[in-house]
Amino acid sequence: MKLLEDRIIQDGTIKPGGVLKVDNFLNHQIDTGLLYEMACEWKRLYVNCNINKILTIEASGIGLASMTGYVFGCPVLFAKKSKTVNISPDVYSVEVPSFTHKTVNTVMVSREYLHADDRVLIIDDFLATGAALKGLIALTELAGATVVGCGIAIEKEFQGGGPELRAQGYRIESLARIQSMTDDGKILFASGN
Ligand code: 5GP
Repeated sequence: MKLLEDRIIQDGTIKPGGVLKVDNFLNHQIDTGLLYEMACEWKRLYVNCNINKILTIEASGIGLASMTGYVFGCPVLFAKKSKTVNISPDVYSVEVPSFTHKTVNTVMVSREYLHADDRVLIIDDFLATGAALKGLIALTELAGATVVGCGIAIEKEFQGGGPELRAQGYRIESLARIQSMTDDGKILFASGN
């Protein structure tokens, strides 16, 4: 999506360890107009897919997922991160290593809000190694629900998660796919832009 790629070039900054900072429009301050356009793009890509629930992970996915839920006209469920070891029988839970914080979180959703007849679109801001997405897929499948697909704002293709999950048959629609980025600020998109 050209609009998003242009914004990454304009406002993104590259941090050590292959981390892209986009606090200006996505991860701290939020550009709602841009998020609306992104949500509309996923609506176009997933037209006629009968999606009835959006699933994301706290905290940075919530803004994006909320806009997407509004555009799709369906509820948004966000998986909660917890350090608690006492997992209640009322939740589905999985372990997810964090790319940015280098910790492992227990991630959970209430059984009350995720059901076997749900057709789920998973939304997240970034796709790197795929750990967060694998966790969300696992939660969906634990509930017996269907993963219709995933919508990612920014995929860093070179960190491997996207290619691995697509090879497993999951549909992933990333609106900006970064093929490579260098510490001196050069970003190459898979689209060729
Ligand atoms: P993964 O689990 O695929 O390795 O990483 C995805 C998760 O880590 C996302 O939920 C996102 O919050 C965070 N993340 C991964 N890479 C980046 C990045 O370059 N910048 C930011 N801001 N977050 C990232």
